[in-house]
Amino acid sequence: MNSLKLIDGKAASARVLQQVRVDVAALVLQGIQPVLAVILVGEDPASQVYVRNKILRAEEAGIHSLEYRLPADAGQAEVLDLIARLNADASVNGILLQLPLPAHIEETRALQAIAPGKDVDGFHSENVGGLSQGRRVLTPCTPSGCMQLLTDTLGDLTGKHAVVIGRSNIVGKPMAALLLQAHCSVTVVHSRSSNAQELCRQADIVVAAVGRPRMIDASWLKEGCVVIDVGINRIEENGRSRLVGDVDFDSALPIVSAITPVPGGVGPMTIAFLMKNTVTAAVQQAQAQRSLSEAPCLSTY
Ligand code: NDP
Repeated sequence: MNSLKLIDGKAASARVLQQVRVDVAALVLQGIQPVLAVILVGEDPASQVYVRNKILRAEEAGIHSLEYRLPADAGQAEVLDLIARLNADASVNGILLQLPLPAHIEETRALQAIAPGKDVDGFHSENVGGLSQGRRVLTPCTPSGCMQLLTDTLGDLTGKHAVVIGRSNIVGKPMAALLLQAHCSVTVVHSRSSNAQELCRQADIVVAAVGRPRMIDASWLKEGCVVIDVGINRIEENGRSRLVGDVDFDSALPIVSAITPVPGGVGPMTIAFLMKNTVTAAVQQAQAQRSLSEAPCLSTY
């Protein structure tokens, strides 16, 4: 395998987390301890693993975490009540509601209940609107992580043609908004696009967020393009269970100039940007209370 073409998400996320650790230490020196509250409703096994990892990474970064586990039959009111209490608690900087929620809980209503300044997932409509207006708001973690990988790889993205495959609220739409902010020309394709493959073949940058194993092969890609594969798909192959992306890695590798592997590409960046968003939230809340003196390393927040 040509490892020179690999975009190493583990190494990039380690750099982000190292900066977060430095920034948290600077905040703590000023008497500000960043705190992330994580809410898990029900016992979905994958969600339990995600929550455990988030809490682990938070603690490693010096961020205090509070874990709230509600039973699968918890009502909407119970979830909203917990969010209201965390909103009102000035010691809590970030609130993360682990998705998916049990079917009887209205996801949009629950996400909208989180105070926008504590919405470290960047899903509240105020943050979504702010992103599309180019304001500095808390932005969704996975697309933010993809942007970091792209700028690490390409530097300035100005003038590049980017094709985003997928238009979900979590990945595709915010990804397109961030690429636009970085002065790319952006095309979004989805399941109703009539010429997705043809459009994708014109792209300098391809971001695949579809949820279909190995759907994008070499025939979708322009020579020398950069591919960010967001997809995480579990498949059975040769009697083994394994994770693959939305891109057919082996087919794409000879064509691309750089590509993220799955696993080890976008995945680690998502969690790193959750930590970064928590620090951003803590800094902004402290600035709002004017309790933060100027610390140079915190100037990027
Ligand atoms: P969604 O299912 O919400 O969205 C999938 C998108 O793909 C939809 O917009 C859909 O179009 C589009 N789509 C489906 N089929 C096609 C097709 N044949 N051609 C073009 N577009 C198509 O998924 P998410 O955005 O939440 O996630 C996408 C993938 O990314 C998943 O594999 C998920 O596991 C992974 N993921 C990874 C994360 C990470 O940390 N690495 C974080 C979040 C997600 P339409 O809107 O028309 O239905």
